[in-house]
Amino acid sequence: MQNIQGTCLCEKNHLVIKEYGNFVYSCHCDMCRKMSAGPVMAVDPETSDNIELQLDEASVTYYHSSPEVERAFCSTCGTYLFWHHLTRDHYCMNAELFPDIIKQANFGLQVFYDRKPHYYDFANETKKMSSSWEEI
Ligand SMILES: [Zn+2]
Ligand SMILES: [Zn+2]
Repeated sequence: MQNIQGTCLCEKNHLVIKEYGNFVYSCHCDMCRKMSAGPVMAVDPETSDNIELQLDEASVTYYHSSPEVERAFCSTCGTYLFWHHLTRDHYCMNAELFPDIIKQANFGLQVFYDRKPHYYDFANETKKMSSSWEEI
């Protein structure tokens, strides 16, 4: 797919992924679960070359969850937009912003699986990685 459009709930912030397939993964880390009331479902468009951010800067809040990572949220509707590793220029985005990806998603990976609390489980057959990036 090309030029895949995404928006936050209030549609003040638009995000475009220039080129992407249908890969979706979940992150079970403590920070993702706390900020979103559950595991984050994410897409991985990689670097800034592959995306176009059309953000309403008055409606975006950046939170540095670690020295090299910022997370962006819509400050009007609260929607989680993306995770950005600043030194690697690596973006991972909220998959649910992109209906065209979700319609045909291939949910193939769960990361930080060792951090997942016991009260939920996905039934999907996926690859599972621990917080030390070893396959479980
Ligand atoms: Zn919004
Ligand atoms: Zn996470």
